[in-house]
Amino acid sequence: MAAPSATEERRRRLSELLATVVLCRRCPRLVAWREEVALDPPRRHRGEAYWRRPVPGMGDPDARIMVVGLAPAAQGGNRTGRVFTGDRSGDFLFAALHAIGLATQATSVAPGDGLRLSGLYVAAVNRCCPPDNRPTPEERENCLPYLVHELRILSRVRVVVALGAFAWDGALRALASVGYRPAEARRPIFGHGTEARVGPVTLLGCFHPSQQNTFTGKLTPAMLEAVLARAVELDGAA
Ligand code: SF4
Repeated sequence: MAAPSATEERRRRLSELLATVVLCRRCPRLVAWREEVALDPPRRHRGEAYWRRPVPGMGDPDARIMVVGLAPAAQGGNRTGRVFTGDRSGDFLFAALHAIGLATQATSVAPGDGLRLSGLYVAAVNRCCPPDNRPTPEERENCLPYLVHELRILSRVRVVVALGAFAWDGALRALASVGYRPAEARRPIFGHGTEARVGPVTLLGCFHPSQQNTFTGKLTPAMLEAVLARAVELDGAA
């Protein structure tokens, strides 16, 4: 029998990781919260079956670009079971990913909706939705090994787009665990459009597509698309 290709091997290892992640109960506060929000959903989601478990990353096992968010949204990923899926942030993100050619469709509604990512993997620092979108430092540390594991499996990744300061910090920590250090002596500081060389990876900063940012115009579709286009450009040059 022929040996599995590198792509198949990465896919197999990602599936193994996914099976582990969805069973995780390491953070008592987040386990309680992800289940509690499902008990009292807003009117628009009443009657829906919530996922209520950790939300794993998803994407192309041959990805060269990784997008890292903060954590699933209580009524988004925590409901649908897929990262950045089923809420306004996800709508905003996937419209831009589709415009740039990294996603096959502009919407991400639910697993099974036909969405596929090309050359891209989407993950988050924390896999369970936190109250007020704020994981504690301990919860971040609990979850970070999953991102480290993904980076190890996805060894072709050369560009990481961090959505927000929390993701920027988490990505830097995860890259350090993989053995990648910033080229500059000073720790790179998050900013929209900021680039930092970290080992063989370029870390790119982008404001998070939260409603707080998109409704106020702090992050526009054009701004997000410009960062993603830069990620594609950097990938082509790597
Ligand atoms: S946030 Fe991460 S470490 Fe904490 S319970 Fe969820 S999956 Fe586990």
